[in-house]
Amino acid sequence: MTFDQLGLSEPLLQAITAAGYTEPTPIQSQAIPSVLSMNDVTGIAQTGTGKTAAFVLPMIDRLASGRSRARMPRSLVIAPTRELAAQVAENFEKYGVNHKLTMALLIGGVSFGDQDKALMQGVDVLIATPGRLIDQFERGKLLLTGVEMLVIDEADRMLDMGFIPDIERICKLLPPRRQTLLFSATMPPEIAKLAAQFQNDPKRIEASRPAQTADTISQYVVQLKSNDHKARRTALRRVIESCDVKNGIVFCNRKTEVDIVAKSLTKHGQDAAPIHGDLPQSYRTQTLEKFRSGDLKLLVASDVAARGLDIPDVGHVFNYSPPPNSDDYVHRIGRTGRAGRSGESFTLVCPEDEKLWDAVKKRVQKEIEVYTLDGLDDEIAELQPPSRSSSRSRSGRSDRSTNNNKRGNSEQTKSNRSRKSDDRQGDFLPPAPSGPVVGLGDHVPAFLQKSV
Ligand code: ADP
Ligand code: MG
Repeated sequence: MTFDQLGLSEPLLQAITAAGYTEPTPIQSQAIPSVLSMNDVTGIAQTGTGKTAAFVLPMIDRLASGRSRARMPRSLVIAPTRELAAQVAENFEKYGVNHKLTMALLIGGVSFGDQDKALMQGVDVLIATPGRLIDQFERGKLLLTGVEMLVIDEADRMLDMGFIPDIERICKLLPPRRQTLLFSATMPPEIAKLAAQFQNDPKRIEASRPAQTADTISQYVVQLKSNDHKARRTALRRVIESCDVKNGIVFCNRKTEVDIVAKSLTKHGQDAAPIHGDLPQSYRTQTLEKFRSGDLKLLVASDVAARGLDIPDVGHVFNYSPPPNSDDYVHRIGRTGRAGRSGESFTLVCPEDEKLWDAVKKRVQKEIEVYTLDGLDDEIAELQPPSRSSSRSRSGRSDRSTNNNKRGNSEQTKSNRSRKSDDRQGDFLPPAPSGPVVGLGDHVPAFLQKSV
């Protein structure tokens, strides 16, 4: 199959050639004709297989005729994180070089000024994170009644508990007669069911089974005998040292852990920096840019970096522990092995992680090879004298993280997500309380005041 068999226009084909693509990926060859025929589409394909172009290319051709009006975008793309939204915008620029379409990027953490100006001038494409989109709507800068096409990238994340109130609200502001496209590498059945209310007779296109990890990734598990975090950090260092790492992402389950692990790696001579939702946007952008350009070797990240980010030559992904949600494993390791390149992933699994790890194995339905390091168990055993080790791990940090993992999936996620989802994006586990919690004081959070 070639791109010119898909029904795309000549200027678009030229942009595709300029991007260096010779043939469409499976999701592109299946989804593009459907989108051009105005169908609603749910597209499932492995990480790094070109889902972005599968919707951006036909959108450009669909929008080529017609004109934008002030404050009334003609299409809307929503994504869970600012970084991903910015990346989709770059894709629009790349594939749209031969078109005169206008675009605005609405993300949190940056000033309103430029966004206001772009909206006033009228845009064909609006790319946004939900929080900032709603803010701009509430400020009267935006009308969504002219939106002909809606794309929800990382759709299952956007329709999960944290984001769903925002998405429901946004969809109510859109005209019911529109084209709606959903894309992801994962799609749990319960979310697919929920998605039906936002689409009209959608065509489901599966270039792969949901949650199928990319074939280009060699996956390994490092089994540890201790729950102690010092042991975990030692193991992480040894694993990194043992493979020839040019660059890699280390994923942690909590923001506090991200900070600690980044500091520890730096202290031990590794070039590492943290990224998570509590850091200022300017720092996040700068750090990601450094990593992208090869100036930073290890990005230590929360799940804010797990979805969608496309840095094609990332060679390694390390999971400091398995993620609380097994689908996130697919996305985390999917930051490597992109666009046909090969990559390796390593997941540290302590005894306390067994349940999470079982869920991952069940989800990905693949045998994951055990990776052993000579002398690691002995080194870890030496970290703690045997007489004290068991009591220390029971009363110390490891116990806390067991509880946190349990909490991570449900109630905490729901209650901690404020309407400003844009500002907490990707980080679904709250930081560990630093002091004793004695009550809510005078401040009653908005979510407690809502009627059920
Ligand atoms: P996904 O959303 O499926 O995870 P992306 O859309 O981020 O994947 O694309 C992954 C990478 O593949 C990008 O760097 C993109 O430039 C590249 N890519 C997309 N389509 C093609 C193609 N047809 N041929 C070669 N590379 C492609
Ligand atoms: Mg993507």
